[in-house]
Amino acid sequence: MYICAIANQKGGVGKTTTTHNLGVQLARNAKKRVLLLDLDAQGNLSDACGLEPQTLERTVFDVLAGAPIAKAKSTLEEGLDILPANIRLAEAELAFAGRMGRENLLKKALTSVAGEYDYVLIDCPPSLGLLTVNALNAANGLLVPVQVEYYALAGLALIRQTAELVRDLNPDLAILGLVLTFFDARKTLNKDVAAALADEWGDALFSTRIRDNVSLAEAPSNGQDVFSYKRGSYGAKDYAAFAAEFLERTEGCYGTRG
Ligand code: ADP
Ligand code: MG
Repeated sequence: MYICAIANQKGGVGKTTTTHNLGVQLARNAKKRVLLLDLDAQGNLSDACGLEPQTLERTVFDVLAGAPIAKAKSTLEEGLDILPANIRLAEAELAFAGRMGRENLLKKALTSVAGEYDYVLIDCPPSLGLLTVNALNAANGLLVPVQVEYYALAGLALIRQTAELVRDLNPDLAILGLVLTFFDARKTLNKDVAAALADEWGDALFSTRIRDNVSLAEAPSNGQDVFSYKRGSYGAKDYAAFAAEFLERTEGCYGTRG
């Protein structure tokens, strides 16, 4: 089971969109067993998957508090489950602050489903607080979606630092890579930022770039992934290509081959 934390302390960079569409493609196309894990109190991933976050009886919050994952997850389609979140998760930082092992609550919970999934994709909140630390502690790899804009460069130093801090607790954690989102080749700045990132991050930068594409923004309001919403869109093509590259990078790691 390969656990991937999808994180960036900036909001609106494509974390949720990447988690959702990558997961769908891995399950549907590559026939992997995938758990989507919503770790953001906004519940955007749960919502995009067609759930109504506010009506859920149990969520990832309960799992962090000790409930079994089986009691809180839902199956979306063959090979694709979601462990949803809602606004209750906003209490987590406070609720678990005084607990022993508070940085390892998620890791502990995921141990119990180790044989059930090939991939767990964790959609992190836009901060580097206790929830993201839990995700990084549980993870084998960190995937960072980066919106190509000038300030992206400065923000990455912080996430690299966080990953290094966490590595003291979780020596398994590797930076799986960076994926560029909202890419628009017509904009000179986009090309410059992409070149600067390639210089600094080398092979860690995925060669697939996710283009700025309206279908990616429209699909979630229909409770759909981009492949169901518009097969032929750039968004669908880019996430299919990205999933293939992701598979190549992770297959063979941590029993993802069966
Ligand atoms: P995050 O989870 O990092 O906050 P989201 O995945 O929610 O970011 O993306 C922010 C917004 O931009 C959402 O409305 C989403 O539908 C839209 N979006 C995401 N990726 C793209 C893209 N490549 N092109 C156009 N819109 C996108
Ligand atoms: Mg999000």
